[in-house]
Amino acid sequence: MALSYPCLVHRLALATGMAASLLAAGTAAAGVHRLVLGHSVDGRPIVAIELGNPLSPRKVLVVGCIHGNEPAGAAIANRLALLGPPAGVDLWIVPSFNPDGQAAGTRGNAHAVDLNRNFPWRWQHRSGVSYSGPRPLSEPESSIAYHLVHRLRPVISIWFHQHLNVVDISEGNVALERRYAGLVGLSTTSLTREPGSVVTWENHLLPHGSAFVVELPTGRLTVSTALRFARAIDTIAR
Ligand SMILES: [Zn+2]
Repeated sequence: MALSYPCLVHRLALATGMAASLLAAGTAAAGVHRLVLGHSVDGRPIVAIELGNPLSPRKVLVVGCIHGNEPAGAAIANRLALLGPPAGVDLWIVPSFNPDGQAAGTRGNAHAVDLNRNFPWRWQHRSGVSYSGPRPLSEPESSIAYHLVHRLRPVISIWFHQHLNVVDISEGNVALERRYAGLVGLSTTSLTREPGSVVTWENHLLPHGSAFVVELPTGRLTVSTALRFARAIDTIAR
């Protein structure tokens, strides 16, 4: 049965245990919805912006920041939200899953956990700068991301990092990842698959989807560069 949008959002919140402070009623424009998925360790809201057709089976997820000291992708996420709803796509944008780390300028969250080592696929205990946390999904931020991905089952997920200036070829759709790299002018490589990383977990969960990492250059992006990366997402999302 087709669900109306508010119903879908409400079910998403219920299914994921998300804090139901849904802001869907406060839409900025038709086809654009903001909602609070939940809160970080320090109580900061983790916000999602949904654009396009909520009933489309083609779900695309874009995450601007998961390592707090690698925040440049948030500008791409925010720029993408301004481009308008893509035709035939249900586009979900999360500017940051790590607002505490972003505020503090740290890789980890407020518990010093590397959220990108806190996912369940091949999780291993790690210490130091890439502290894995005491167990998979121990952190509210990673748990929120886990439930969002489970609910949406995106065909494409892009997770922005810094500072390697490459597109990481994942276990997903290599042709699509190379296409994105070509559109934004980055080279491709295959980085080490780290235990507990979100992309590795996602590609295991959704073998027909493509979750991949884009490593941006060091520093802040210019407006034109952020726009180029955002338009390239709009192109491959369709
Ligand atoms: Zn990173």
